[in-house]
Amino acid sequence: MICVSIQEPTTEVALARMEATARWADLVEIRLDGMVRPDLERLFRRRGVPTIATCRPEREGGRWTGEEGARLERLRGAARAGAAWIDVERFAVAALGALPGRCRRLVSHHDFAGMPRDLRRLLRELEAAGGDAVKVAAVPRGMADVLALMALPGEARGPVAVVGMGPAAAPTRILARLFGGAWTYASPAPGRETASGQIPAQVLAERYRASALGRRTRVYGLAGDPVGHSIGPAVWNGWLRAARRDAVYVPFLCRDEADLKALLAWWRLDGLSVTIPHKVAAARLARGRSEAVRATGAANTLFRMRGVGQAAARGWFADNTDLPALVCAVERLLRSAGMRTGGGGEALVLGAGGAARAAVRALLGLGFGVTVSGRTDARAREMAEEFGVRGLPVRAVPWGELGGLRPLLLVNATPVGMSPGVGEMPVPGRFLRPGLLVFDTIYNPAETRLVVEARRRGAVAAGGLDMFVRQAILQARCWTGRAPAEGAWRARVGAARAGE
Ligand code: NAP
Repeated sequence: MICVSIQEPTTEVALARMEATARWADLVEIRLDGMVRPDLERLFRRRGVPTIATCRPEREGGRWTGEEGARLERLRGAARAGAAWIDVERFAVAALGALPGRCRRLVSHHDFAGMPRDLRRLLRELEAAGGDAVKVAAVPRGMADVLALMALPGEARGPVAVVGMGPAAAPTRILARLFGGAWTYASPAPGRETASGQIPAQVLAERYRASALGRRTRVYGLAGDPVGHSIGPAVWNGWLRAARRDAVYVPFLCRDEADLKALLAWWRLDGLSVTIPHKVAAARLARGRSEAVRATGAANTLFRMRGVGQAAARGWFADNTDLPALVCAVERLLRSAGMRTGGGGEALVLGAGGAARAAVRALLGLGFGVTVSGRTDARAREMAEEFGVRGLPVRAVPWGELGGLRPLLLVNATPVGMSPGVGEMPVPGRFLRPGLLVFDTIYNPAETRLVVEARRRGAVAAGGLDMFVRQAILQARCWTGRAPAEGAWRARVGAARAGE
C-alpha cells in the first residue's frame, strides 16, 4: 500500500494535493503539525481513501511547537472527523486515551540519527504500548541495516510500517509490500518530501509497481555507489513491465564490500547489475564464473545459480556483459573511422577498475597492443601483471607520463567527465589530435567533454551509450532468457534520460 504523506500550511493546499495524488494513494497521511487552523472536518471526512492524522512535536522531528495538550486534542479532533488512523509516539499513547469509532492507533518511533540499538526490543516495546500497528523510522547506515529493517515485519505480531530514511533506504520504500510492511510512505511530488529518502508516489506506483509486488516477484537491482541518479531503474522496470514479468529492479546503495556481501546474502535477491566500485569484488565473491569473468577478473552481472543440489541453488554466478558490449562498440568505432578490426596498433586504457579490465581484454582480442594507466599506479600495474601471468602482455605507464604516449586508440574507463562532473577530461586537450580514435565508456552524458573535444581536434570519437545498451540487453538475457530488442531498449534509455 502506498501512503502519500502530505504536509501543507493550509487546508486548501492539502486538499488540492490529496486530489492530485489520489490515483496513486491507498492511504493518505495528513501532517497537522505546521498547519494553520486546519479544518479537520474537511480534511478527514471519510472519502474513498483512508487517512492517517499525524501531529509531530518538534523534538520528534515535526513542526508542532505548541502545548502537548493542544496537540493531542488536535489528534482527537481528527479522529472524530473521520481519520482511520492516529499516529502517536509511544510516550503519548496513554495521554491520547481512547479514540472514537473505528479509529486506530499507530504507535511510532523515529530515529533521525541512525538505527535503534536493539530493533527487536524496540519492536516489542512499541507493540506493548497498546496500539493497533507500529511504525519504525530509522536511518540505515548500510545494507545490513536495510535488511534488518526489511526483516522487521516478519518478526512482528501485528502490522508494521517500516520507514528507512537517507540515501541507502530506497529498498525499504520500494519493497514494503514484498517484505510484508503495512504500507510505504511516499511524497506527493518531487520536492514535497516530509522525510528524507521518500520517493514520489507516482514513481513508486508506476515505475516500481510498489502496490503490486508480492511473494513471487523476482527482485533484481543495481549494486554500486553512487546509484541514486542511475537511469537503470527507469529503463529496467519499464522493460520488465512491458515484458509482463512479475519483477522489480531496485537501486541498492553499496558503499563498500561489506554492503555488497550483506546484499548477496539476502535470500530474496535474484540478480544484480554491478557498477562502480564493485566489479572486481563481485567476480571474487561469486561461486561460478563465466569465461568473460575469468578473462577480465571483473563482473557486471550476477544471478543465482540454478543447478542440482542445495549448494548450487544458493550460489551466485558472475558474468561480464561489458566485455562483448565493448568489443562491439570498438568495432563500430573502427568501422566509422574506415579501419578494419585486427589491423593492430597501440591502445591506451585509462583506469584500472572493472570497465578497464573489460577494455583491456576486448582490445587484446581485437589485436591491439595495450597500455594501461591509472591514477593509482599500483592498481594499474597489478592489473597489467594479472594479464601478463595469463600470457597476455599489457604495459602499465604511470599517470604522470601519459603525455609521452601516441596511441592509435584511447579508451577512457574512468568516471572522469561523468555527470555531474561534465566539465572534466581525463587527459589534457593537447593529447587529442587528428588520426586518434577515442572511445569513452561513459554514457551519461552520451557525449562527454572528451568526446566533443576529441572530435573538435580531428579525432574520431564515440561515447559509451551503445555499450551501455548492449551490455544491458545481454544482462537481460542472463536473467530472463530473453533478449530485449535493441531499438526498443535504446528508446527506453532515451526516454529515461529525457526525464532526468
Ligand atoms: P571502478 O571499478 O570503480 O574503476 C574506476 C577507475 O577509474 C579506477 O581505476 C579509479 O582509480 C579511476 N578513477 C576514478 N576517479 C578518477 C579520477 N578522478 N581520476 C582518474 N581516475 C579515476 O569503475 P568501473 O565500473 O570500471 O567504471 C568506470 C567507468 O566506466 C565509469 O565511468 C562507468 O560509467 C563506465 N562504464 C560504462 C559502461 C557502459 O555500459 N557504457 C559499463 C561499465 C562502466 P582508482 O583505482 O585510483 O580508484
